[in-house]
Amino acid sequence: MFLVKCPRCGKNQKCQPKPGLVTTKSKRCVYCGRTFKIHSNLEKSRIVRKL
Ligand SMILES: [Zn+2]
Repeated sequence: MFLVKCPRCGKNQKCQPKPGLVTTKSKRCVYCGRTFKIHSNLEKSRIVRKL
């Protein structure tokens, strides 16, 4: 489980990616509907922290 941040509205939300698919996983923002990728690279990552 990760806490990820939406690049459009900036809201944090939980995400549960499937094992091994973190870098390709797309997440739809539950607030504004924006779809964004969750990178495993910390510099590009939308992951705020692991839960
Ligand atoms: Zn959003």
